[in-house]
Amino acid sequence: MRKRSPIAVTMFFLALFAIAFVVALQFGRKDDDMLRRTQVALGTLIEIQVRDMERKAAWSAIDAAFAEVRRVDTLFSTYAEDGPVWKLNHDRDTLIEVPDEVFALMLRCDSLTRASDGAFDIALEPLIREWGFKDQDPAVPSSEELTEALQHSGWAHVRLEQPNRVHKSADAMINFGAIAKGYAVDRAVSVLAREGVAEGLVNAGGEVRATGGDWSIGIQHPRSTSELAAVIDPQGRAVATSGDYEQYFEQDGKRFHHILDPATGLPARECMSVTVLADDDVTADALATAVFVMGPRKGMEFMQQNPDIEGLIIDESGDEHATPGFAQFRTR
Ligand code: ADP
Ligand code: MG
Repeated sequence: MRKRSPIAVTMFFLALFAIAFVVALQFGRKDDDMLRRTQVALGTLIEIQVRDMERKAAWSAIDAAFAEVRRVDTLFSTYAEDGPVWKLNHDRDTLIEVPDEVFALMLRCDSLTRASDGAFDIALEPLIREWGFKDQDPAVPSSEELTEALQHSGWAHVRLEQPNRVHKSADAMINFGAIAKGYAVDRAVSVLAREGVAEGLVNAGGEVRATGGDWSIGIQHPRSTSELAAVIDPQGRAVATSGDYEQYFEQDGKRFHHILDPATGLPARECMSVTVLADDDVTADALATAVFVMGPRKGMEFMQQNPDIEGLIIDESGDEHATPGFAQFRTR
């Protein structure tokens, strides 16, 4: 047998070392494969996951994304005293200047209200207060109370003027609850990307966006917390679900939940759950709420007219209605 040259021997050991190193990395990667952390913000559980990234960098990206979620929470919270929404809702002035970022989201809300024929409306806070969903003792308002609150509710009481002025009637009040989580998810996802995350997921109480690779996202069954209604791989698209099972109370055997029909001031009746897929989570979140209000017939029509939107509606009887394109995302 021919004697190996010292160089060949070195190469052999180097190769062995390289293989061992790759294996170790593989093992290391298995441990590090997925990092996950949850925190409470925006009145819900926020979950952030990062896959396949060096631990230290991943944790610091997750930290930065959570900081962004908390910033968005403070900026758009209805209850943060002296925040911009507090000012909009407590100042009797009819002209109020808001931070540019708040104005930008209000402009987005304006076009979503128009697109949804008024089903999505961030100016329902007088009604939301009357129902008291956030209070200790929510109750069905009397018809006088409802009429009064309806009079002060609705986007017609608000007008936006560039660059950052909001004109509103004295009693009009804003609540970003149907879009703030989606906005926070979009912002957090862009922070993860800035921090070098290639595969990450942000979930704000059911509004979800995931980047890179395959992901499995379960959609909760609206009447059984231990069951999933469907599982999807969103393939880079944003997902949002609105349901009648997150915030509700029962009175005289009837369920009263927090998604209100702006036309009547009453909880929208025809759906249990609506999931929308869109390019960004601001759109998905707002339209999940809007389609919920529209109900299965009008909601399906609306989604089918819009080629960028796919969705799944579970109606009041528990029957499913999905857009034709939804099937390509569904894995179960
Ligand atoms: P979730 O918070 O469970 O994801 P939504 O995104 O549908 O549900 O938001 C519901 C919240 O938005 C309510 O708690 C209320 O503050 C507000 N809201 C209720 N009805 C409407 C509506 N028609 N348009 C916009 N916001 C609404
Ligand atoms: Mg919503």
